[in-house]
Amino acid sequence: MEGLFTGLLCTISLFLLFSGSFSVDSIASNQGIKDDGETIVSTGGMYELGFFSPSNSNNRYLGIWFKKISTGRVVWIANRESPLLNRTGKLKVSSEGLLLLSCCGDTVIWSSNSSASVSFDYPGDTLLAGMKLGMDFITGTNRSLTSWKGPNDPSPGQYVSYIDTNGYPQILLSQGVVVDVRFGPWNGIRFSGLPTEMSNPIYSLDFVVSQKEVYYKFELKSSIVQIIHLKWDGSISMLHWNNRSQDWLVYTSGLIDSCGHYGICGPYGSCNTNTNPPCNCMEGFEPKSPEEWNIADWSNGCKLQSPLDCKGGDAFRKVTKMKFPDTRYSWYNRSMTLGECEIACRRNCSCTAYANLDIRKGGSGCLLWFGELMDLKVCEESQDLYIRMPSSLVTGLTVSQPGFNRKIQILTVVLSILLVLMGMSVAVHAFRMKKKRSYMKGRGRRVHSIDRHNSDVQKEDLEMNFFSLSIITKATNNFSINNKLGEGGFGPVYKGVLETGQEIAVKQLSRTSEQGYDEFYNEVVCVAKLQHRNLVKLVGYCMDGEERILIYEYLSNKSLDLLLFDETKSCMLDWPQRFCIINGIARGMLYLHQDSRLRIIHRDLKAANILLDHDMNPKISDFGLAREFEGNQITAKTKKVVGTYGYISPEYALHGRFSVKSDVFSFGVLVLEIVSGKKNREFSHEDLSDNLLGHAWRLYTEGKYLELMSPSLHNSCIISEVKRSIHVGLLCVQNHAQDRPTMSSVVMMLGGEGSLPPPRQPAFFAEEDSPKLNTYSGVDEATITLLHPR
Ligand code: ATP
Repeated sequence: MEGLFTGLLCTISLFLLFSGSFSVDSIASNQGIKDDGETIVSTGGMYELGFFSPSNSNNRYLGIWFKKISTGRVVWIANRESPLLNRTGKLKVSSEGLLLLSCCGDTVIWSSNSSASVSFDYPGDTLLAGMKLGMDFITGTNRSLTSWKGPNDPSPGQYVSYIDTNGYPQILLSQGVVVDVRFGPWNGIRFSGLPTEMSNPIYSLDFVVSQKEVYYKFELKSSIVQIIHLKWDGSISMLHWNNRSQDWLVYTSGLIDSCGHYGICGPYGSCNTNTNPPCNCMEGFEPKSPEEWNIADWSNGCKLQSPLDCKGGDAFRKVTKMKFPDTRYSWYNRSMTLGECEIACRRNCSCTAYANLDIRKGGSGCLLWFGELMDLKVCEESQDLYIRMPSSLVTGLTVSQPGFNRKIQILTVVLSILLVLMGMSVAVHAFRMKKKRSYMKGRGRRVHSIDRHNSDVQKEDLEMNFFSLSIITKATNNFSINNKLGEGGFGPVYKGVLETGQEIAVKQLSRTSEQGYDEFYNEVVCVAKLQHRNLVKLVGYCMDGEERILIYEYLSNKSLDLLLFDETKSCMLDWPQRFCIINGIARGMLYLHQDSRLRIIHRDLKAANILLDHDMNPKISDFGLAREFEGNQITAKTKKVVGTYGYISPEYALHGRFSVKSDVFSFGVLVLEIVSGKKNREFSHEDLSDNLLGHAWRLYTEGKYLELMSPSLHNSCIISEVKRSIHVGLLCVQNHAQDRPTMSSVVMMLGGEGSLPPPRQPAFFAEEDSPKLNTYSGVDEATITLLHPR
């Protein structure tokens, strides 16, 4: 916009021209304009500010209109809601530099800072080139267009066009609370479904989504005068001034056809102006209520012909030439690839579709939709949308191409490895050498990768609650030593209380931590997407400068190891509680392993990573090392092994191979520890060099394995449950991964009464047989970095 608009608001240093019967070249303090003939004209002569009355109306308004254009055209009004009813109005500049509109003596009815919703910064019913439509999150300003009430009544009407910031932002046009038209979402080039907004010589479009603001604007590339106008009847159009016809012509309209009304075909119904009737169910879908559908009431939309499987039996149908659905229930991430996007969608059964967020350069970013897909429309532009369906309904060429996605995934993994190697060779070397522990960056992929050097991007990418450092400082009493719960490899953990009264555990990444930003992001992204009563809940995160903090639900009974391995406290854990804990951990692990076709391998299951809530329910924590597996991926291999002494499986320690079965091994160790109250690695026997596993095996073969049970359980134990737990524990720690049960079998075996298969000899039977983990270097060039349990 020309300097008039911003100039008036900011400095009142106006560049004025004489115009009309009486114009001024400046308004000095306590001077003003009051008659309809007195105006101020902007520097380029394009706009004029003054009083006017709409035709057929005696109401007077202070407004801005096009001066250069013969028909005028009011583009902004100060006092839309309080018209002057006679000719007494006056605009003047106060001694503080504010614009004041007064009437009837000195009553101010509008001033340039009197209302947050009326200023030159705010559009009325017209968006001019350079003006922003959208939200400023810093100031809380929401810039929207509001229609006039009638052709000659500028008071606010019922139609509002605005950027909705739920999910991925998109422009909506609502009549009252009912959405009438939806534009978008923005795909990097244009609003999906509006092909006319392609690059052109007249104007350029900008749609900015950042942490600070979300806005849409257009800029003119030529001298053509162009505006976006929301008419009193709810139609929205881009108009341009045509010199030859001396009239405003519609350049493009927001409601160009019968498919323009929001959701006309209901959920999963797609609208096509070239078919009769326009509404059709997408392939694989059928009308929800056929009777209504047949009498042209499409509002109930369509449903899948057969239900989703959600356990890995779903596929994605690739649909092209379709306006992207309503994004109000969506999630987005700029750095994910299409392959990662599919993975994320598969993992959550309420995810119904995914697509690239940005279609430029072959596509990037990820947009996920949740719930029913609304407002689909066949359009000319080609942009791929992948819709979730049961595999049985996906046939032919339209099936999402797993090979393609796989290639993307492989490429992503290879690139990640290269990046990691480069990073390591440049800077990490010296730093990491000091560390007691280090973590793998091998073939098993981190759950997610984020550009960890750009905190703006990070915050956008993380879908968790973001907490400011000041909130966390306050909650933890300035990280008071009195609030300290303990310290792990990540750093110190503090108890905190939020202003809402919610108790939290605050894990602060220590500067000298051997875990790093990668583990921080892995934990945030991983835990954020997992929800189960036996997994610890991540409440949010905080990033401030170098500071990285994870905020969890506070679990008042802390970690299992603190009770289990403490002679006095262990008696607090009677058998029913221990059996509940074993079962809870098993269910949590089952969820991790079988949540979807992709599985999470925890890789560091141990007593210190089991937290206990108020009711002693166990919650698995510490996902910094977790890795995601694809559905048909059985094992992954790494040259850098991490894990904890006593819990790590032999194939992982020796060959760097990890799989769900390496987690099962750790689970088995944990079960035997819970029953015996003894740490595997620290177990000692006066005569023998057994570790706990060896000892359990020996007792089992001698038929006296109940002797493994902690003496403190004698009064509370249920023999059959103890026996069953030890038996299952021994099955889990068998030497060969293929002999070990899956977590689903474990859950069934623990809960059932049937006979169990006999276990084979466990791994690391005796200390002499045990591989020298800390010095091991020969096999498959694996390097091993193991954590010592506390
Ligand atoms: P490592 O990092 O080596 O796995 P760890 O798991 O013990 O060790 P942290 O998870 O950082 O380390 O936990 C440190 C301490 O904080 C533990 O004593 C644990 O009991 C306590 N703690 C951690 N999270 C919570 C929580 N959500 N609620 C209550 N206490 C917690």
